[in-house]
Amino acid sequence: MTEILDGKALALQIKEEIANEVRQLVAADHRAPHLAAVIVGEDGASMTYVANKEKSSHEVGFTSSVYRLPEKISERELLETIQFLNNDPDIDGFIVQLPLPKHINEQRVINAISPDKDVDGFTPVNIGRMVLGEDCFVPATPMGICTLLKRYGIETAGKHCVVIGRSNIVGTPVANLLSRKGFDCTVTMCHSRTRNLAELTRQADILVVAIGKPEFITADMVKPDAVLVDVGIHRVPDASKKNGYRVIGDVKHSEVDSKCSWVTPVPGGVGPLTIVSLLQNTLKAYHKSHE
Ligand code: NAD
Repeated sequence: MTEILDGKALALQIKEEIANEVRQLVAADHRAPHLAAVIVGEDGASMTYVANKEKSSHEVGFTSSVYRLPEKISERELLETIQFLNNDPDIDGFIVQLPLPKHINEQRVINAISPDKDVDGFTPVNIGRMVLGEDCFVPATPMGICTLLKRYGIETAGKHCVVIGRSNIVGTPVANLLSRKGFDCTVTMCHSRTRNLAELTRQADILVVAIGKPEFITADMVKPDAVLVDVGIHRVPDASKKNGYRVIGDVKHSEVDSKCSWVTPVPGGVGPLTIVSLLQNTLKAYHKSHE
């Protein structure tokens, strides 16, 4: 029987745990943790992501602020904002919503974020620490995937985990984390140049899919009783829905799910854990700054 890795329910539970901790801090006359977000321009998806992060911050009792900057802002002005946030002692962590407009060098902006406030875990310092197994801020989506597997008690040691996708924010870090002590998977990483993809995916005890292609993974690509983690998020038009669209993943769930032992649904799987991981990282940054 297929069981659900219910990210929505788990996210609610972890948010309650964070909210309890924040209530105790505030009751003891400490200030609440503060998460800030920088958004450049008015891209619809980015504005939705930032609004969700703001809402979740408020739900757990964090202070939240959003720096909305015009599309035409120069790189120098954006870097000045980053310096301001780096130096503000009342801000524990901040994120710069990506993508940035084309005239801005994204990596230069990420590099300017203080590693101590880099709650997205995107700076070279935090990525280096992660690869070395040192204490660090782990990128939110891979961290959310690890939390799901851990909290649901999924057996990982010695399992063959196939990760599809090698992006810096999902595939590469999740492959690294699952191969390390604590998870102990044997990891195969696949990408757009991988040959015979289905032959590899059919060997996966745990299949993590972060391709960015709607319903790409079909039943013939999945081993019976595999654990399936679908990271993909796509909005497709659907006239039967009030908002005119529905959200689907990188996996064709209608045919794949019944074959698996555990599955993350889309929506309600990895997505809610991504935001929760950002909140967890912010709380960690808060505690570090109060050490
Ligand atoms: P990306 O476009 O940066 O990377 C996609 C990866 O897939 C690349 O490494 C590429 O090599 C690989 N790929 C592409 N076509 C392939 C093919 N035919 N065979 C094998 N590999 C192939 O994407 P990303 O930023 O890693 O995001 C992946 C998906 O996850 C997207 O749908 C994105 O929207 C979603 N996402 C979800 C969350 C969440 O919170 N749930 C967070 C981040 C991204």
